[in-house]
Amino acid sequence: MTKSTPLSQNKSRAPAKMPTRNSRRKGPLRRTRLSRTEIDTLFARLEEKMPEPRGELDYINPYTLLVAVVLSAQATDVGVNKATGPLFAVADTPQKMLALGEERLREAIRTIGLYRNKAKNVIALSKRLIEDHGGNVPADRAALEKLPGVGRKTANVVLNTAFRQPTIAVDTHIFRVANRTGLAPGNDPLAVEQGLERVVPERYRLHAHHWLILHGRYVCKARKPDCPACVISDICKFAGKTL
Ligand code: SF4
Repeated sequence: MTKSTPLSQNKSRAPAKMPTRNSRRKGPLRRTRLSRTEIDTLFARLEEKMPEPRGELDYINPYTLLVAVVLSAQATDVGVNKATGPLFAVADTPQKMLALGEERLREAIRTIGLYRNKAKNVIALSKRLIEDHGGNVPADRAALEKLPGVGRKTANVVLNTAFRQPTIAVDTHIFRVANRTGLAPGNDPLAVEQGLERVVPERYRLHAHHWLILHGRYVCKARKPDCPACVISDICKFAGKTL
């Protein structure tokens, strides 16, 4: 029987954790450690396992998706869904959200971390959508990133999920998987995003985001990756594999 290798003995060059907001720096781009064939095989296997991958945040339309993603910062999708179910039943447009008002919105999302600030942002972005975009969510990165509480990651999720653009939003799961496997090593989320954009084959671009997130969340978990159950374990370059 193969013994598990403690993660503390990991000799991978990959950073163990995604850098915090304050420590993020634009680092140099690093090359993928996988061959073109390995990259193709990696995505073919993920596709075979999850032919139609979906995100796990509940939403009704692009606006509710945007709100759900803003609320999901430093919170779990399950926790966000619990709050947004009743919320979106009464407020699924910017107009209805403004009619609900910040106080009642705060009350509706009080189980979610940082809810006071998030409620402020949701009200402010709803106003901005009405004033600048006729109440619609723009399918444009620059316009999205100008909205209160919306950064590059949120914009990428919305562009990918609501508008089917081939963007990749690097969250903690994608950051970990890209570094451990050697697919797109990088010291910060932007470096990983740019690395993925260079190496993910065109035909896998649209779903790459969800495949990598779901793989990181359920298989390549932070504390104890489930390498024996991993469909890409023979390709992965992680030195601390638990095989
Ligand atoms: S083999 Fe292990 S470390 Fe590599 S991707 Fe799979 S679960 Fe993650």
